[in-house]
Amino acid sequence: MTVTKNLLSASGGKPRILTGDRPTGPLHLGHFVGTLQNRVKLQDKYDCFFIIADLHTLTTAPGKDKTSTLNDRARGLVLDYLSVGIDPAKSVIYQQSQVPEVTYLSLIFTNLITVARAQRVPTLKEVMHDLHIQKPSLGLLNYPVLQSADILMFKADLVPVGKDQQSHVEVTREIAKTFNKTYSQVFPIPKALIGDVPTLVGTDGQAKMSKSIGNCIYLSDDATTVTKKVMSMYTDPKRLRATDPGTVEGNPVFIYHDVFNPNKAEIADLKTRYQAGQVGDVEVKQKLALALNKFLDPIRVRRAKYEKNTALLDKIIASGSKIARLQAQKTLVQVLSAMGLN
Ligand code: ATP
Ligand code: MG
Repeated sequence: MTVTKNLLSASGGKPRILTGDRPTGPLHLGHFVGTLQNRVKLQDKYDCFFIIADLHTLTTAPGKDKTSTLNDRARGLVLDYLSVGIDPAKSVIYQQSQVPEVTYLSLIFTNLITVARAQRVPTLKEVMHDLHIQKPSLGLLNYPVLQSADILMFKADLVPVGKDQQSHVEVTREIAKTFNKTYSQVFPIPKALIGDVPTLVGTDGQAKMSKSIGNCIYLSDDATTVTKKVMSMYTDPKRLRATDPGTVEGNPVFIYHDVFNPNKAEIADLKTRYQAGQVGDVEVKQKLALALNKFLDPIRVRRAKYEKNTALLDKIIASGSKIARLQAQKTLVQVLSAMGLN
């Protein structure tokens, strides 16, 4: 597998994408429909930079026990990327902590946004609620500013993300405009690209499938695990017997059917029978498990191909980070020059 590309083919005229993930655990179906799908689809049309945002994990999980496993988890993320079809010969995959220039840019940006604005970003409250954080660190407040630096460092035009991250792209746009106005025109104003499913619900019926909540079906789950998770999924809580008419709207089992089961006739039939009280949850779930496993099979095949090849995963990160760093240095020179600091 070719893992390098000629970087500065990355400035060869194609528009740019920057997006990525925090290496906090394996990727799940929510990541797939929220952002991975768009990355794979667009990797030929755009020059893509995919960030393994390890510095962002410090905002919620500081501590040596966590940081010392980040490199390992970064490899896991690359494996997830390869398994869905992201191609390192086309796209740059890099580790945030290996591009220290981003922290410099982030520092400059902290002065272009007010504390009140950062406090209004909705993910702050959500993360505090989900992770039971009473007093956020300055780093957590700064999360979207650091993300703005990630995005603008590569002068990205498009940021494929799940709906929950749209507010961060909004902050990025504001910072880019403020910088351009305060100093001089350096940054394009990036746009968020929200996935086909803006936010995938969790298996427990909560609004978002999320590692931190633990309501996920992972891209790396084997068939037995997927089936087990599906069979214990949350459905219509008011329906006690198979003969009770059930609700389809907002029911996670049917939401997943709609997203992952290509057999539309089967879904229509299940919905009709469910609403009429003519089908049990077991049948609906068994059919979903089959559909999901079929969807995940090619992902599993690609994963198996690369999973033992730690050297390849390391090489992808190292060469991508080298390319990303060169690009970051180039942008930083432009930024300092725009500020008259060169
Ligand atoms: P988790 O909540 O599972 O820990 P996360 O949101 O912390 O995941 P990030 O690394 O912050 O994971 O997000 C990676 C990308 O995946 C972001 O673009 C985010 O919007 C998207 N994403 C995460 N969960 C979902 C979901 N349930 N539905 C749609 N998109 C999602
Ligand atoms: Mg998140």
